[in-house]
Amino acid sequence: MTTRTDSDHGHQEHVDPAELVPLDRYRSEVLSGIEPLEPIELGLLEAHGCVLAEDVDALADVPAFANSAMDGFAVATEGLSDGAELEVVGEVAAGSADHPEVGRGRAVRIMTGAPIPRGANAVVPVEVASELDGWVLIERAPRAGEHVRPAGEDVRAGETVLAAGRRLRAGDVGMLAAVGRSRVLVRPRPRVTVVSTGDELTEPGVPLRPGQIRDSNSYTLTAMAREAGAVATRHRAVPDDRRALTEAFEGALAHSDLLVTSGGVSAGRYDLVKHVLAELGDVTFRKVGMQPGMPQAFGWLRRGPAQHVPVFGLPGNPVSAYVSFEVFVRPAVRRLQGRGDVNRPRVTAVLAESVRSPAAKVSFLRVRLWREGSTWQAGPTGAQGSGILRSVIDADGLAEIPAERTTVAAGEPVIVHLLTDPS
Ligand code: AMP
Ligand code: MG
Repeated sequence: MTTRTDSDHGHQEHVDPAELVPLDRYRSEVLSGIEPLEPIELGLLEAHGCVLAEDVDALADVPAFANSAMDGFAVATEGLSDGAELEVVGEVAAGSADHPEVGRGRAVRIMTGAPIPRGANAVVPVEVASELDGWVLIERAPRAGEHVRPAGEDVRAGETVLAAGRRLRAGDVGMLAAVGRSRVLVRPRPRVTVVSTGDELTEPGVPLRPGQIRDSNSYTLTAMAREAGAVATRHRAVPDDRRALTEAFEGALAHSDLLVTSGGVSAGRYDLVKHVLAELGDVTFRKVGMQPGMPQAFGWLRRGPAQHVPVFGLPGNPVSAYVSFEVFVRPAVRRLQGRGDVNRPRVTAVLAESVRSPAAKVSFLRVRLWREGSTWQAGPTGAQGSGILRSVIDADGLAEIPAERTTVAAGEPVIVHLLTDPS
């Protein structure tokens, strides 16, 4: 069986390959203008997942004071022998500011994390001590420093604990708290607004009238933007009407770092998104050598005199919109965050069945992946038409078929971009 990568029905424009912009060129042109957002100061949990924009130095030792690593008895080791009996002269718990003095022949009951009392230099764990009537029997005399966590054991004052450019993980957020930072300078999550367009679109949850379809793209694309690290807002679908489109785009611009539209960028009579975007800024429309997702719009919309907001106008077919987001918008969202992991991880897999692919276009096949011996196998997820959303939900990755290939035989290697990386 041979899977066709192109649309199985309709919407299959026949274009002269000379009209197509090569995918790589278009992608790098589009992405080259996208710069990381200006850093802002955020609380630690808001900063989680963001890229640090400052070096974080510890201002003091962590821990700030020597403390006990065990529950037990703080003792002075000098002159202490195995089997010694010591008088218990006090107690320190974690958080205590008391510093009872430990001299020769004496011990202080101590809890994990409590400061080591003056004069003590080791802790005997409760497990190897027996306490009775105010005295404690030490089975084995500890070495100096045993079960004591010295000041600065974790982090030394002046040390850089996290460097600018690092994306904050859970442990990092904890470290920031440990060194006393409550806020840090990071690149913010971009605010992305998703607007789908089309007279035929209606909301899920209401019955369809004749000719209507549900607006799935705005949900898919908003969810994808969130997965890419954005704070994404879904705008209610806008009809194919100049005025309504202009209002929606202008409204979204005011509070967005990036705008994503779906639909209305092809050659149809009601593809008005093109015209409206062109009026609001500097936007170009290209036929890109890829399948699905050939018609693409990208540019910068004016927001005030000196500010411009990038806009991606994606085609409306659900799979085209999905693949276009993966290929162009996701990397842009990552770049705005200043992230190094702009692209998905990829693997080389062997195609499990032969496929056909249009000339002069890079095809992105939705594939399942499985392991056979030491190789990954990739199998197309059924019909690959640009309206078959099912092909997306069953996919582990996008197999990239190079533009110069029109057929790839079963058993040949292909690059697969993984769709499963969680963050
Ligand atoms: P367009 O790009 O506007 O020509 O739309 C291409 C195809 O995608 C048409 O069949 C539309 O009905 C469909 N489509 C457009 N927008 C959406 C959407 N938001 N959700 C689902 N399908 C859509
Ligand atoms: Mg449309």
